[in-house]
Amino acid sequence: MKCLICKQGETHPGHATVTLERDSATLVFKGVPADICGNCGEEYIQEVVTARMLAQAEECVSRGVQVDVRRYQAA
Ligand SMILES: [Zn+2]
Repeated sequence: MKCLICKQGETHPGHATVTLERDSATLVFKGVPADICGNCGEEYIQEVVTARMLAQAEECVSRGVQVDVRRYQAA
């Protein structure tokens, strides 16, 4: 698709690194599937993927984890 930010580049399937902060916890997800703009580098992550990361973040918070770096795992 055409990039919504720069309106010039086309997005291509790739992988992103996403950092989430929830309360006192910081989680880093690597290898997150995303569509990435070839021009400006904007990352488009599907809602279902974001929801899954947020759910995992909540789980970490409830376990008292403060910092966690992990690979994104699809269901
Ligand atoms: Zn762009």
